[in-house]
Amino acid sequence: ASVTVRSSSHDYEVLIGDGLRHNLSEFISSDYTSILVITDSTVKDHYLQDVKGSLSEAASVFTAVVPAGESSKSMGRYEELLDRCVELKLDRKSLIIALGGGMVGDLAGFVASTYLRGIDYIQMPTTILAHDSSVGGKVAINHSEGKNLIGSFYHPVKVIYDIETIQTLPESEIRSGYGEVIKHAFLSDDEWTRRLLKANLSELSVDQLENDLMKGIQVKASIVEKDEREAGIRKYLNLGHTLAHAIEAELGYGEITHGEAVAVGLLFMMKVSNDIKGAQLPIKAYKEWLDQNHYPISVLTRIRPERMLERMMFDKKTLRRKINFVLLHELSDPYVVEVEEEQLLEQMSLLINEVS
Ligand code: NAD
Ligand code: ZN
Repeated sequence: ASVTVRSSSHDYEVLIGDGLRHNLSEFISSDYTSILVITDSTVKDHYLQDVKGSLSEAASVFTAVVPAGESSKSMGRYEELLDRCVELKLDRKSLIIALGGGMVGDLAGFVASTYLRGIDYIQMPTTILAHDSSVGGKVAINHSEGKNLIGSFYHPVKVIYDIETIQTLPESEIRSGYGEVIKHAFLSDDEWTRRLLKANLSELSVDQLENDLMKGIQVKASIVEKDEREAGIRKYLNLGHTLAHAIEAELGYGEITHGEAVAVGLLFMMKVSNDIKGAQLPIKAYKEWLDQNHYPISVLTRIRPERMLERMMFDKKTLRRKINFVLLHELSDPYVVEVEEEQLLEQMSLLINEVS
């Protein structure tokens, strides 16, 4: 299956299928003189040989491996990778392939966006979460003061999503990915949402996985196509993220995965939408789904509402020390609104009590 994404610089295709990594020369132009595959230490063990083996013999193929984990999205690793590009004499006819999850995608994409003022790159996502990060053109590394503070908008020339690679993902990463999948469902499609709320994540069929990833990518692509630089509706993609970012920062990255934090953030979003704004979102069904799939809702008992509020105010996406929230009028109907601090504190305390 495939989706075409339109961007201001070029259109690109997202290919999704089982085993695509074995046939890469079919999908990648043979005009590239050299290819640098960037991956992390975990993904390397599983898939690097397959990828190298299926690239066209016309190009020289090089590899660079960074340690797995968010801490590789750093200035140090970025500089090392640039050194490697220079040392290998990569030129404007070279290609970078980002083989891995969102960490590798963001890091390798940022290298590609800046080396020689930009060379082509291809995303080869290997996590469920990366259905989100591989589309939309945001690439970045972290700064000690905050995540993704250094980056650019730079779209790949193609996304090749071999969903067979999902088979080796640990459960926590499946949960993480589905946090963003269900966000995309909440934003766009009631029926899909209701279907997802019945899904047991440890028993996903290949068909369901492919369908969910395809739909998630379509939602993301259609929003980003209309607002590439987040002047308006791209903000909807931050659904659940205001609290999620605060939780991640408070507990430390590594304690909870990004998508798990988003899933918890979405629960809070529902509570605020329902109790302050009078929506009737299916919060009970959603909470049950989180429980059944072992999302770490109990992190809510480890946070203090006042501290979360402070963190939310300094989130880089909040303007003027006021908290702009993405809420839902109903499923598939998002809006951005300023919510009063007291109300947020109250709802957070209530939610913490409910889950304790
Ligand atoms: P990740 O890339 O760190 O991968 C998670 C873990 O799974 C890592 O340990 C990795 O080695 C391992 N892994 C990856 N693929 C595997 C496989 N097939 N089998 C076994 N293990 C595998 O994390 P992620 O959740 O994919 O992405 C998170 C990153 O994405 C964050 O840095 C976040 O900022 C970024 N992100 C970017 C965007 C964007 O629009 N650019 C959107 C969302 C998230
Ligand atoms: Zn996210």
